[in-house]
Amino acid sequence: MNYHISTRAAALSPSLTLAIDSKAKAMKAAGEDVVGFGAGEPDFDTPQHIKDAAAAALAAGFTKYTPSSGIPELRQAIADKFKRENGLDYKPSQIIVSCGGKHSCFNVIIATCQEGDEVIIPAPYWLSYPEMVKLASATPVILPTTDKTEFKITPAQLRAAITPKTRLLVLNSPSNPTGSVYTPDEIKAIGDICVEKGVLIMSDEIYEHLTYDGAVVKSVASFSPAHKDHTIIVHGFAKAWSMTGWRLGFLAAPEPIAKAIDAVQSHSTSNPTSFAQKGGVAAMTGPQDHLPKWLAEYAKRRTYAWQKLNSIPGISCVNAKGAFYLFPNIADTGLKSAEFCARLLDEQKVAAVPGIAFGADDYLRISYATSMANIEKGLERLDKFVRGLKK
Ligand SMILES: *Cc1c(COP(=O)(O)O)cnc(C)c1O
Repeated sequence: MNYHISTRAAALSPSLTLAIDSKAKAMKAAGEDVVGFGAGEPDFDTPQHIKDAAAAALAAGFTKYTPSSGIPELRQAIADKFKRENGLDYKPSQIIVSCGGKHSCFNVIIATCQEGDEVIIPAPYWLSYPEMVKLASATPVILPTTDKTEFKITPAQLRAAITPKTRLLVLNSPSNPTGSVYTPDEIKAIGDICVEKGVLIMSDEIYEHLTYDGAVVKSVASFSPAHKDHTIIVHGFAKAWSMTGWRLGFLAAPEPIAKAIDAVQSHSTSNPTSFAQKGGVAAMTGPQDHLPKWLAEYAKRRTYAWQKLNSIPGISCVNAKGAFYLFPNIADTGLKSAEFCARLLDEQKVAAVPGIAFGADDYLRISYATSMANIEKGLERLDKFVRGLKK
């Protein structure tokens, strides 16, 4: 049978992060001592009070359909979060709860972009953004950056990329994969241009709470009512509450866009899991004392990994200010990222994600959402691998 695959689906690139990850898992299952730097999720457990709230909801029979955009209690709790932490006034009707931050991103793109539209995506980018844009039959316009600007685009670069077809700019600060964080001034300058040019911003703020060295995260929506009117904030529970498997994310949008996304979601997934939403309420309204502990641990690992990486000849690494990734430059090793990572896994049993997956072939992504013991062992092996490369 010659199956017909839609052009839309056939155009997608398979996920390179998942490919490395599945090979590393297979090696592990075969009993090999693999060190994984590929994780895109916290290595901490979901805080107990959140699990308890979901378990109680399940036990109480909270197992039916909910309103497709989320239960009012959770949408209100999220609106309260934006008011309290970001000084932003959203009505609960402007909040859409979805099946993960990734799903929120997808909903934004599918509800605002179509054939002929251009979406500006700074690289290195989270690998799903360009694929989502392609799924919407729109065109990704990639703006490359390097470690010399801490992987940030400049206002001039943005201005030059905007055309009459530009519909959306994707911002992700703190960034996956680079860990870089735009300063409030830098974010405002970018937001100013989008307001002037009438370009929407999808601001993926899922790492908002994970920052180091006093880095300040300010939402682009918070500079003026006009900035807010041009911004859709995407966020979720996966990272700061370690709830990746719960599939729970949310967004805040101008009313007409929220309404369109509500329609999209009501005809695709319907509501996110009912009892997971009750866990979400506990995450939003309960104690946040897990976070300083996690941040202290991440910060320790980050400093160690950053110093160790910079001690390896041929590797240089700017320090990250947020998220839980480092993005070292490997250009001087003479290898491109896919070959580097494939050989690193084969020869030293260390799994890292090649930068090419994020549109930056001179780099790798190292996740430090793993134990200090793993980081020490894995980076020792990485050191050995690089020193053993024949120039
Ligand atoms: C993890 C992540 C998300 C959302 O993940 P979900 O598990 O779908 O909530 C969104 N954007 C970025 C950049 C991420 O790293």
